[in-house]
Amino acid sequence: MTDVIPAASTPRIPVRGGGLPSDSTFPVRRIYCVGRNFADHAREMGASIDRGQPVFFCKPADAIVVDGVVPYPPGTQDLHHEVELVVALGHDAPIGVLDPADAPALVFGYGIGLDLTRRDLQAAAKAKGLPWDTGKAFDHAAPVSEIVPAHEVGPLAARGLSLKVNDTLRQQSGLDQMIWNVADILRELSKLYALRAGDLVFMGTPAGVGPLQAGDRFVASLDDLITLRGVVAPPRAPG
Ligand code: MN
Repeated sequence: MTDVIPAASTPRIPVRGGGLPSDSTFPVRRIYCVGRNFADHAREMGASIDRGQPVFFCKPADAIVVDGVVPYPPGTQDLHHEVELVVALGHDAPIGVLDPADAPALVFGYGIGLDLTRRDLQAAAKAKGLPWDTGKAFDHAAPVSEIVPAHEVGPLAARGLSLKVNDTLRQQSGLDQMIWNVADILRELSKLYALRAGDLVFMGTPAGVGPLQAGDRFVASLDDLITLRGVVAPPRAPG
């Protein structure tokens, strides 16, 4: 077999702790994202909350940013931050609909990330009933922290997310405020997709989303356990 073009390299995220070698990485297969998983954020977006069916969308795996440097994306005047828990799957799901009791065994670990959003493009798409891809699935749209093995994170419901931009607190919430917890979301995803080791799930954002400008520095945290530090860099030509 001969590739006719060079194969793209698999995006990888550093892994911290767990007694693993210090150069351990998590290779990313797919990125699933949950919309409207916190009632306060759904309200601030003017959206209704459907407790019967979560909203899903995807980002390309190579949208991840692991060095914290996010060039201001093209095509928008309104780049928004959404701080989110990131779930990293370490095993393939069994065939069929996942039993929520089996969900924890699929999880390798957790990180913290930003679901960066070109809010103006997303709003225009929503208004026309069109897909959200240009608003959500762009280059550098998923800065993410290192991944920490699940056993070092412990029970999620006791933990909280926060985001500071230029030292001002923008978003903060307990993870117990999620409408759908991780097991719920993995079950719902399993009805639609074959979940595999390497998949990431961005679990949705609480209230307080807002604009980022070139030069802004951000610090996203899961308590004092996981921290993502980064900066919005000046625009860069695509490619
Ligand atoms: Mn989001």
